[in-house]
Amino acid sequence: MNKPLKQHLIDPEICIRCYTCEMTCPVGAIEHDDNNVVVDATKCNFCMDCIPVCPTGSIDEWRVVETPYSLEQQYEFEELPDQQEIETAAPSEGSDEVADPIAALLAEAHQGAGGKARAPISAAKAAVNMYNLGKPARMTVQGNYRLTDDPDHDVRHIILDPGALPFPVLEGQSVGIIPPGKDAEGNAHLPRLYSISSPRDGERPGYHNISLTVKREDGGLASNYLCNLAQGDTVNVTGPFGATFLMPNDTKARLLMICTGTGSAPMRAFTMQRQRSNATAQMTMFFGARTPDSLPYFGPLKKIPEAQMKQHLVFSRTGDKEYVQDRMVAEEEAVADLLADENTYIYICGLKGMEEGVELALTSISESIGQQWTALRDVMREEGRYHVETY
Ligand code: NAP
Repeated sequence: MNKPLKQHLIDPEICIRCYTCEMTCPVGAIEHDDNNVVVDATKCNFCMDCIPVCPTGSIDEWRVVETPYSLEQQYEFEELPDQQEIETAAPSEGSDEVADPIAALLAEAHQGAGGKARAPISAAKAAVNMYNLGKPARMTVQGNYRLTDDPDHDVRHIILDPGALPFPVLEGQSVGIIPPGKDAEGNAHLPRLYSISSPRDGERPGYHNISLTVKREDGGLASNYLCNLAQGDTVNVTGPFGATFLMPNDTKARLLMICTGTGSAPMRAFTMQRQRSNATAQMTMFFGARTPDSLPYFGPLKKIPEAQMKQHLVFSRTGDKEYVQDRMVAEEEAVADLLADENTYIYICGLKGMEEGVELALTSISESIGQQWTALRDVMREEGRYHVETY
């Protein structure tokens, strides 16, 4: 009998085939074909680098096996195999062996996975993966509103109603949208991921509907489908996804939100939830857009009192080009005050390219208070206080 091994797998029913895990894996253990994304058991060294970057959580799957599933077998998976019954020798009396090696191996896998990205300690428990490609939630469009005046920058606020279906969400979670029709191979389109921009109890308290922030992309299948939806249309939705990019329920927690463009979606949800709770701590937002006319939620944002949220709206194509990271450095003292506070939670969402600039800004601001940013970031991440979602 082979000694049981833990094997890393990817759930094909949840995965949206964004291939971020494959791009992140430092040892080239992840690959894909037209059907599935798979993990090579001979290469995976359980470094866990792929776990926090997966937007759906489909990456965080583990089985204890006697013989690992081959790549060929994984490419054929339509769903994940159940955990097999595996015979294990009982530990001899007085030995240090654990009583249930399978449970121990699985627990070890999850411990590792949690080591990189964690939810805030006071966050509510997120429900995930309730609906998938084979069993989506059918939602009705309640509204589709244009958010931007710039004629070349069509960003929409789209409200979806799950009706009687249970669809519990928390701020910071995402959903998958399945565009109708088939791809070139005749298969159903895979879901595209969008952040939820409404708070947990709905656009209006107690309505339990959800909203999305969608920019029309030239030639974009899902974005054009969504932006063209009319009231009463129905949409197939998967998810909810995401169990770490969540807000603390602690009303005294300070939120530092840094976003670009439609990366503002989760920040709108956080802000609305804060306004509906009896939160006392001020939020701080750095929000970058090309112009005021292309900044989603510009009007409503302007109405939030400064006591609730200190806003820095910065523009890259009006007068002096300014990015969020430039304003953060200009506001060094205020950001340093937040970094020095153990009750501060950082959220970064938007363009992938912003990450580097924001990291550099945080590095120089940390130095101003005698801290090394990478060390501080590791502590914040470990404590569920540092969250990044960029595409
Ligand atoms: P955008 O309008 O193209 O850009 C927003 C602002 O970011 C512009 O001022 C842009 O400046 C600036 N920017 C460009 N490069 C930057 C950099 N390296 N550092 C800092 N700022 C930079 O943004 P968008 O098209 O809305 O894109 C938003 C991103 O968020 C997308 O990648 C999307 O996938 C992602 N996202 C969306 C959602 C959602 O639910 N819809 C959720 C999470 C993330 P210039 O263009 O003038 O250089």
